[in-house]
Amino acid sequence: MTLRLALAGEPLPLVGRARAYVCGITPYDTTHLGHAATFVWADVAARVLRRIGVEVEMCRNVTDVDDVLDAAAERAGRRFDSFAAVGQFRFDRDMAALGVRPPTHQPRAHNHVDGVVRLASALLERGVAYERDGEILFRAAATGLDVVEVPPDASEVPPSRRAEDPRDPTVWRPATPGEAAWPSPWGEGRPGWHAECAAMALSVLGPAVDLHVGGADLRHPHHTGMAAMAEALTGVRPFARARLHVGTVRVDGAKMAKSAGNLVLVADLLETHPAAAIRLLLLDRPWDRPWDLAPGALDAAAGRLERLFAAAARNAGGVATDAVVAALLDDLDVPAALDIAENEGGEAARTALSVLGLT
Ligand code: ZN
Repeated sequence: MTLRLALAGEPLPLVGRARAYVCGITPYDTTHLGHAATFVWADVAARVLRRIGVEVEMCRNVTDVDDVLDAAAERAGRRFDSFAAVGQFRFDRDMAALGVRPPTHQPRAHNHVDGVVRLASALLERGVAYERDGEILFRAAATGLDVVEVPPDASEVPPSRRAEDPRDPTVWRPATPGEAAWPSPWGEGRPGWHAECAAMALSVLGPAVDLHVGGADLRHPHHTGMAAMAEALTGVRPFARARLHVGTVRVDGAKMAKSAGNLVLVADLLETHPAAAIRLLLLDRPWDRPWDLAPGALDAAAGRLERLFAAAARNAGGVATDAVVAALLDDLDVPAALDIAENEGGEAARTALSVLGLT
């Protein structure tokens, strides 16, 4: 039997190589547990694919051209790029601590502004975008974006006042005085968020990807907008063959966010718990469901980790190893894989710990 990964019940056949695009961080207030969940799951998907002999080319961007980042930099009295560099340093340190392998490519938005200008020009040429007072807007109605059902945890992007239709996302917009701005045929301006990611994905990985990863709150309008722009440019559909939209981490029912004042930072958790326990806390659950960070959950994960280490030290045959890998290939079912590992012990447990990056 050929080993292959299935996600959300859909098989994802691959021949030796996979391209994955991970919507990365806006480098400020990093790294909270919600961010970490997305990148740890992306890492596990890649590790599971490597286990079955698929080489993974992963591109994880850094959104360092962003209005919220700029506002935070201004409050700190810093230039946006040096402020972002500090945020990214902290993020990289947290990812290394959590055992997340560095991506193959880590493009930064400020190096791809030219790409957004090219994207905007091409979309105008194709008649799926229009210009209003120096802003380029993408026509949602021409591309099926207007029929997307908006999920309850969608990220909020206020519509542009220049939009003909409030669902039309911005590809490029004029800068306001004092903002970092770049030249374009429509005057000094800044890229739209979805357009930035589309330009980075297209220039780094080419016209389509096998896996698109991001937090569930990015499903719409960010991922739908980005995919629609890429597809309108290339004609290659779908932009992403499969998606890994990682469930939102909540505290007392509220999404973890700076605005909610409920951030739990990885760096703080690392002071009291082993990194592998934090990783296990994020992974020992279905990847697509939102969950609440309960008091004591991290201690419970640390306990499970101890039991897994004890199981791995047992002298047991390797007959259950295939079952561990099969569980991981079946929609990245980590809880099932770990149950087998804990019960069977030996090689099966060592395999689970190794593939999941828990050793
Ligand atoms: Zn993105």
